[in-house]
Amino acid sequence: MSEKTAFPLTLDTPLQYVKGVGPLIAQRLAKLNLHTAGDLLRHYPRRWEDRTLFAHAAQLRGGEFVTLCGLPLSVSTTQPRPGLSLTKALLDDQGAAVMLVWFNQPYMEQVFRKLITAKHPVVVYGQAKRSGMIVEIQNPEWEPLDETGDSLSSGRITPVYPATEGITQARLRRLTDHVLRECLPLIDEPLPPELRQRYRLIELREALQNIHYPTTFEALDAARRRLVFEEFFFMQLYLALQRHKLHTNSQGIRFHVSLEKLHQSLQAVLPFPLTKAQQRAIAEIASDMSSGHLMNRLVQGDVGSGKTMVALAAILMTVQNGYQAALMAPTEILAQQHAIVLQRLLAPLHLRVELAIGSLSKREKQEVYERLRTGESLIAVGTHALIQEEVGFARLGLAIIDEQHRFGVLQRRALSRKGDQPHVLVMTATPIPRTLTLTLYGDLDVSVLDELPPGRKPITTHWRSRSKREQVYAAAERLLSDGRQAYIVCPLIEESEKLEAQSAAKLYDYIANKVYPHRRVGLLHGQMPPSEKEQVMLRFKAHELDVLVSTTVIEVGIDVPNASIIIIEDADRFGLAQLHQLRGRVGRGEYPSYCILLADPKTPEGKARMEIMVKTCDGFRIADEDLQLRGPGEFLGTKQSGLPNLHIADLLADRDVLVETRTAAFELVKQDPTLSSPQHRTLREALQRMHTHLELASVS
Ligand code: ADP
Ligand code: MG
Repeated sequence: MSEKTAFPLTLDTPLQYVKGVGPLIAQRLAKLNLHTAGDLLRHYPRRWEDRTLFAHAAQLRGGEFVTLCGLPLSVSTTQPRPGLSLTKALLDDQGAAVMLVWFNQPYMEQVFRKLITAKHPVVVYGQAKRSGMIVEIQNPEWEPLDETGDSLSSGRITPVYPATEGITQARLRRLTDHVLRECLPLIDEPLPPELRQRYRLIELREALQNIHYPTTFEALDAARRRLVFEEFFFMQLYLALQRHKLHTNSQGIRFHVSLEKLHQSLQAVLPFPLTKAQQRAIAEIASDMSSGHLMNRLVQGDVGSGKTMVALAAILMTVQNGYQAALMAPTEILAQQHAIVLQRLLAPLHLRVELAIGSLSKREKQEVYERLRTGESLIAVGTHALIQEEVGFARLGLAIIDEQHRFGVLQRRALSRKGDQPHVLVMTATPIPRTLTLTLYGDLDVSVLDELPPGRKPITTHWRSRSKREQVYAAAERLLSDGRQAYIVCPLIEESEKLEAQSAAKLYDYIANKVYPHRRVGLLHGQMPPSEKEQVMLRFKAHELDVLVSTTVIEVGIDVPNASIIIIEDADRFGLAQLHQLRGRVGRGEYPSYCILLADPKTPEGKARMEIMVKTCDGFRIADEDLQLRGPGEFLGTKQSGLPNLHIADLLADRDVLVETRTAAFELVKQDPTLSSPQHRTLREALQRMHTHLELASVS
């Protein structure tokens, strides 16, 4: 041991060389992602327990979490049945009996025998249960009473750490305590004094000391506030710098836009007045595109809020300036639908809309590509086909990505690379709570369409047990006989599209032959060739089909106003956002519409989710509740989370601090966009350490 303490501990010392840690423990700590002494300081407690006072066993009723001190008197192990051993140790707490119980830890017997022989009192922490005269604590945390009285685990507010196998709380406490003693003086304060003062933040050293070993709960709060602030602040600072770079370094094409004239052209082509929210979004886009800087804007709008019209306005501004516009959608059906809508509206202005999708013939593709390359056509709508290598534009001025959550970042970039710094507009119908927008899209400007066009009939949502499905089909039949159409959505099978297709075919069989033999029923799933899918979709749209049995391929954007009921099988398997999207397939016309969720969720969370759907049709509220229920990681799905790694801050609980840091960071970057003033040196260095891989060098 002695040679390990011979050289002084620094923040970068590998844990293996820290006193009390060897290769084995170091390996276990590595599982917690702890590699250096400094990592331990940032291994924040999961919670804290108030162990400032010892309880007295005689006064306990049972149920309370307590810290006790007692003298071990006896210990024994029994084996009530094979595979289960019980070790019980009896303590004397000033005349009252306390029984400690361990399951399948027979070695505790040896440990306690020694303590009994040595007459060494122990400190115990756990939940008390009372049975008669005896207080029992199962699987207690415990340690021998420290003779100096300076125990890390008792008589104080005690940290409880995220732990792993083979690492006890007691060990983590000894380690953090040791590293704090040795390394705290080596820690530099990254936040400038004005900032700390302005936002009432204590110093980092004090915060680290108190986050592990707070003297009072007030001290703990102050420490936590400081560390949460710091974590959010650096994230926002990074985003603010990114955005600043985008706005200044990258010159955008300056369009000349007269909002008045634009509105005149829009009113001339649109059969309805724009909503206030649409007008606001369009004005924001116009201001971006005429600023001389690059536009990077996200339009968030609930299903049916009319994002396509906002896209149309942006396209008009672009073509009126002689530039080309491209709109990319995630599916062929959707691309086609957009092309049809836009072509119909733009025809009077003698504008041609090109459709670029995979299922075109080679010849057709070549012709489309030719007209885009020469600039003869100004508007392209398509799928991924738009970002194929062969596609080029004469002068792309605007790239629009619809339903952006379906695309990866690279695909989005690929579209804008088709031009020389075109403006970028991304649209999403998956409402994202504000807290997440701030962290995920902090470098984008956001327009929110928080208003539906007037005259929409609310969608009535019911949640029914699967056992009621026949009644549900019968109710739908009444709508069908009134001339309406119905969607029936098959259970989601995430693991395999093939299995999903099979189950869809089975459901289709049942619906077509047993439930609605007299109706025209169609089937749509992901394994069908695109042309066939499109055929089915078009037939449904033309009302050549009454019922469409489908997987989630209909989720995005399909518009069939005559469809007035959607029945979702095994609804509890879907995410709330997805259910909301699916529900948005109905209620698009003049008819009262219904959404029926067939589900028998087993968990309280599952039930809560069904109830949210029944209660509200507001996508933002659903998103908020979903986020509360599932937490940010689950909410966004691991696939595309892109969430920053937060060690202490909580996106939900600490959202006020998040908003505060956003203001602070954006103000700071406004004053000092390169962080080059002397009082920002520490900030700059800290940020550089965090983002070595993120081209921060270009800030200089
Ligand atoms: P989403 O935001 O889901 O993409 P869409 O752009 O598909 O919504 O619009 C949904 C429907 O609402 C379309 O049928 C569209 O024609 C209609 N719509 C859009 N804007 C308005 C408006 N201002 N007034 C009335 N109907 C509108
Ligand atoms: Mg849409």
